[in-house]
Amino acid sequence: MSHEDSDIPHPLQVSVVGAGIGGLATAIALRRNGHLVQVFETSENKTEIGAGIGVQVNALRVLEHLGVRRENLKGVSYDGITSFDAVSGEGVARRWLLPEMDQGRSLLCHRKDVHDELMRLALGEGEGPPVQLHLGHKVIDCKPEDTTLTLKSGEIIQADLIIGADGLHSTIRTNVLGREVTAPPSGLSCFRTLLDSSKLKDVDGAWLTEGLSGMKGINFIGKEYRLAVAYPCRNGTLINVNAIYTDPRQDDKDWSSVGTTEEYLQTYHGFNAKFLSVFGLAESPILKWQLRVLPVLDTWIHGCVVLIGDAAHATLPTLGQGAALAVEEAGTLGCLLPFGTRKEDIASRLEAYQTLRKPRGDYVNREALEQAIEPSKRALYFRSREVQDYLLRHDAIKDAQEFYEKHFSKA
Ligand SMILES: Cc1cc2nc3c(=O)[nH]c(=O)nc-3n(C[C@H](O)[C@H](O)[C@H](O)COP(=O)(O)OP(=O)(O)OC[C@H]3O[C@@H](n4cnc5c(N)ncnc54)[C@H](O)[C@@H]3O)c2cc1C
Repeated sequence: MSHEDSDIPHPLQVSVVGAGIGGLATAIALRRNGHLVQVFETSENKTEIGAGIGVQVNALRVLEHLGVRRENLKGVSYDGITSFDAVSGEGVARRWLLPEMDQGRSLLCHRKDVHDELMRLALGEGEGPPVQLHLGHKVIDCKPEDTTLTLKSGEIIQADLIIGADGLHSTIRTNVLGREVTAPPSGLSCFRTLLDSSKLKDVDGAWLTEGLSGMKGINFIGKEYRLAVAYPCRNGTLINVNAIYTDPRQDDKDWSSVGTTEEYLQTYHGFNAKFLSVFGLAESPILKWQLRVLPVLDTWIHGCVVLIGDAAHATLPTLGQGAALAVEEAGTLGCLLPFGTRKEDIASRLEAYQTLRKPRGDYVNREALEQAIEPSKRALYFRSREVQDYLLRHDAIKDAQEFYEKHFSKA
């Protein structure tokens, strides 16, 4: 007897494109519901790039719901930000503005530690069938009309549901929208480096380790945008440093590359010596990224195909919420697609996903850009209780469960 002939609930066949934080988190959420999940990933040996990530409380809430063990993230407590003037070296510490929210809830992590924990939950033992991860499997096309993917090898993969978690340069986005929408260069680039914190004893690094546990932002007030963000991760053994700067030399092809030390240190010319002594410790490779912002999309869904994460709303890292949104979206899909969801229900569940998620994704997309380019809004996130309320207090699981109960529950 085929599934279609039976009223017995059965698992959905789900294809996820991309094994980044968003794709893996979605794979975990759906596997735990008992669905059969395959993930297709271009890279032969997928890991996250060597850089840090702030996992704010709204993302941690969902990650813990998905089974993430906090200790496995090896995070450092993210209690707020200390903003320094790049020239004078003077700093002002700002805690998160939500006093009733426990301090120490948000974490600063190494991306690989977050990714490794998601891999464990996707592929290892646990609730539901383990996810099948296909590395070295690039997806070159998707047909929303018949819910199929075409791999570079020519193989066609049929599914009940396709998740486009294929990041900034998404292929699935083109198929969902029926036209190509690319993310133009923003005029800002970013160096991303890591350094071994044991080396701090050799330099003037007290500004980094003392005071409020959290991010250190170093602003250069001038015509051009120059901001360094430094913070510890991996239980304090590594320091992540991002340097964001105005970069007039952006062409469409070379959006990520390895920068030279000279080029990297040049972005800090004029900074106080105490900062330069730390930044000079950066280890190779020094990764250089153009920061790109996707225009707000008309839709994230088409039939039984849905976009999540950077594929839907890639933006600047000003709010540190890109991966957090992808995780929230994964949690939402998990709540809306429980075991027993029928194929014919999927499209309406994806519409519910879009209703719940798109306004928030579009808000972060726009707000992150504005808080970088409008001088009056610079670093507003850390001064505005309203913005923090909206971003940090959000409980994606609770909202999606309530929506499901109201609109889809038969009870
Ligand atoms: C400097 C910087 C700092 C940031 N800091 C933070 C922060 O502190 N907190 C935060 O929450 N976010 C932060 N972000 C944002 C965050 O990094 C991204 O939003 C997040 O990683 C996006 O995850 P994703 O899974 O959607 O996409 P990605 O991580 O880009 O994953 C996409 C995956 O899809 C694969 N893929 C692509 N095309 C195909 C294809 N055709 N077939 C198969 N596989 C494919 C890719 O190889 C990749 O593995 C930061 C971003 C930057 C640039």
